[in-house]
Amino acid sequence: MCGIVGYIGNQKASPILINGLIRLEYRGYDSAGISTIEKNSLSIMKDKGRVKNLYQLEGIDSLTGTVGIAHTRWATHGKPSQENAHPHMDNSKTFSVVHNGIIENYHELRKFLIDHGYTFYSQTDTEIIPNLVHYYYSKDTVSDDLKFLRAFQHACSDFKGSYGIEIICKDYPDQMIVTRKDSPLVIGKGEEENYVSSDIPAILSFTRNFYLLNDFEYAVLSRNAISFYDQELQSIAKEVKHIEWNASSAEKDGYEDFMLKEIYEQPTAIRETIGAKFSESSHCVFDELPFTKEYLATLNRIYIIACGTAMHAGLAGKNTFEKLCKISTEVDVASEFRYRNPLVDEKTLCIFISQSGETADTIAALKLCKEKGAKTLAISNVIGSSITREADYSIYTHAGPEIAVASTKAYTSQVMLITILAIYFAEILECNQNVITPLKKEIMELPKKIEETLTLAKSIQDFSKKIYQEKDMFFLGRGIDETVAKEASLKLKEISYIHSESYPAGELKHGPIALIENDMTVISIITEPNLVEKMISNIQEVITRGAKTLVITNQEIDANLFDRMIKIPETSPFLSPILSIIPLQLLSYYISKEKGLDVDKPRNLAKSVTVE
Ligand code: GLU
Repeated sequence: MCGIVGYIGNQKASPILINGLIRLEYRGYDSAGISTIEKNSLSIMKDKGRVKNLYQLEGIDSLTGTVGIAHTRWATHGKPSQENAHPHMDNSKTFSVVHNGIIENYHELRKFLIDHGYTFYSQTDTEIIPNLVHYYYSKDTVSDDLKFLRAFQHACSDFKGSYGIEIICKDYPDQMIVTRKDSPLVIGKGEEENYVSSDIPAILSFTRNFYLLNDFEYAVLSRNAISFYDQELQSIAKEVKHIEWNASSAEKDGYEDFMLKEIYEQPTAIRETIGAKFSESSHCVFDELPFTKEYLATLNRIYIIACGTAMHAGLAGKNTFEKLCKISTEVDVASEFRYRNPLVDEKTLCIFISQSGETADTIAALKLCKEKGAKTLAISNVIGSSITREADYSIYTHAGPEIAVASTKAYTSQVMLITILAIYFAEILECNQNVITPLKKEIMELPKKIEETLTLAKSIQDFSKKIYQEKDMFFLGRGIDETVAKEASLKLKEISYIHSESYPAGELKHGPIALIENDMTVISIITEPNLVEKMISNIQEVITRGAKTLVITNQEIDANLFDRMIKIPETSPFLSPILSIIPLQLLSYYISKEKGLDVDKPRNLAKSVTVE
């Protein structure tokens, strides 16, 4: 999952690398390190823990090299420690490497290298990379401009697994080579300088011109040029992409944390995601989608596949596709789906949701569905991300960069986009016009209602002070509210480390009610008009057993029934997940702050999960 950065130019590389790492730190924070080319030898500075520790390292200020690579780690192989921190060098100190991903056959390659006299100093899979490159490099008797690239390509052809790799070589002090397979990597083009990064926001303040590498492709960067090669080292041409995001969208802009900023960006994210896809009076437009009535009518089902929060957005999508389009819709966790031999064929439409577009399991599930003949549609927030390049069709949320590990604006934008997609399908299928017209009106009013909901922040903050020391909580809901309960519970776990369960309210008495104790907080969401009475009865059952109750609702309910009730604006049930999650995002945020935790970088987590 880690973040990688590279720089080659005329400026001192180390401050640029560290600046890039700080912006990528949400991808992993077990250790950090940089390697630069210093007067024809390679230097490495690295340490356990956060990127800021690099500033304390002796000698870091005296680095003058203008070519360098950098890494912030989310450990997969080998505990977080100084010796396992990247970059890693080969035994002869000719090559220095940073790596994002997992070399799955590293055991076998390590044994091969040990048999050939190499020694290993870390427990990582990564350390075999520079040594295997060295092995092939030392065997190549032709000394020409491509010797470094040849050795690197030779080594990479032995790897199984996933990788985004940057490598520098002391014999080629004016070069950096990068490649990728199933791990993200972008190349930023500057003036007499070039950049590499795991994602676009980290280097947006330096350039808005990017090249995207496909799996198995290589880029050789120098100060003034970037050459691209395919797997067989045939030269290939690439077009530069201009990115519209501005640099400040990746800054905190006066907010205490990215998460809080992103919660408050939701009205804009939703406005941008709605964009010009429809007006109240006309049909939805997705220029990039070719779906016809004939095709949609033959579908036996829609599958929505995703992980974590994006999967919860998928659950909202299931409700909308089934009710609006009358198409049976399944939602599955990508890491389960891909190993269950799912019933997918050419009559299945498979939709994949990933904010980063780099989620390893979701991409693997997509490839599987393509093999089975299904049409694949990706929903991502990042233009040109891996998933959008694999899918038959792609559509985008326009949430802007999401930096906090816990997703907020990406989730609500995903729910928004999938709802518009369902309307688009229903219009093609000519069903439910009577529902669609008022729903579109509600969508146009939604950003204002989100703004209104955000004004509840102060009272939610006050409530958080009462409950932040609790050890367990429950989230309950029925129907669409149950999907929001799942997302709210995940948010709380992620950033406050409080154990919580989300449950369909009616299911509670089939077991989990045994866990309800005096003074335990039970949070319920009630927005489904036809389920209000049922919810109130279920809440009564936990009150009877001593629970403290918080209710989030847009219905007319007597507030005296509960310890606390938070009223949110009324909207269509298809859109209520977007409004009802907002107070719960804020609640998790304030609980985490009250506990003094690092909201943006919760322990053990990283933003885009690029390993299985
Ligand atoms: N597998 C490598 C390691 O554990 C890289 C992990 C990452 O992507 O951060 O060091």
